[in-house]
Amino acid sequence: MTPLALLTEAPPPHDVAFSVAPGIRRLVAPNASPLTYHGTNTYLIEGATGTTVLDPGPDDAGHVAAILAAAGKVTRIFLTHGHPDHIGALPALTAATGAEVFAAARGLADGARIGIWTALHTPGHAADHVCFAREDGVVCTGDHVMSFATSVVIPPEGDMADYIAGLRRLLARRGDILFLPGHGPPITDPRRFTEALLRHRLQREAAIVAALRAAPAVPATLVEQLYVPLDPRLRGAAEASVTAHLRKLAADGVATDDGGVWRLR
Ligand SMILES: [Zn+2]
Repeated sequence: MTPLALLTEAPPPHDVAFSVAPGIRRLVAPNASPLTYHGTNTYLIEGATGTTVLDPGPDDAGHVAAILAAAGKVTRIFLTHGHPDHIGALPALTAATGAEVFAAARGLADGARIGIWTALHTPGHAADHVCFAREDGVVCTGDHVMSFATSVVIPPEGDMADYIAGLRRLLARRGDILFLPGHGPPITDPRRFTEALLRHRLQREAAIVAALRAAPAVPATLVEQLYVPLDPRLRGAAEASVTAHLRKLAADGVATDDGGVWRLR
């Protein structure tokens, strides 16, 4: 496996809005953890009639207060997906603002236009995941493309075939200049970064196929073979990821599950 060049950053101050693109400020919630990095990114997007808040973040009164203080009049709320670290603050924020909410789980259609923004359905990490693309090529990518880590794809909610199709969908777009992820710093070279993510997944898939060609195996055995060295704390995540790949290979007609033991067809 070619090592993946992920992006790191010094811990940004929590709940302080700072500019990351023309008309867009980033506000990092105080929910740092191994899965959320320094915290969930809430984005404040300037508009003609008010501010759009993209991903309110976790259920945290201080974070909601910081959003309200920094945003001014909030007219719209965009949700990339329904995980608690992104929508926990939604009830408090809608109660305080009455803003209109745009999310796949609330009927936002793929390709729908909201002013100069377009909704791009990108399931894989989460079934209801949406990226929001601005006309100038700034795309808020949520947890579909993150900068600090690869996305977690855990079946049954997570779907590797959908996830990989979603990466290809972003790569098929032309003119994207900046990705703003749900966690971590902005991605200033989005095409190259996304190509590397796709290559990483395809290499993992090829390694699984090669291992199964040598011998049928259970997912735990594949993890032992493919993740060297393996941090014991990541064993569960690695096994979920391998299982997600195996399910994709089954859907592709390449592999089959024989009572828990996987083999090539
Ligand atoms: Zn998240």
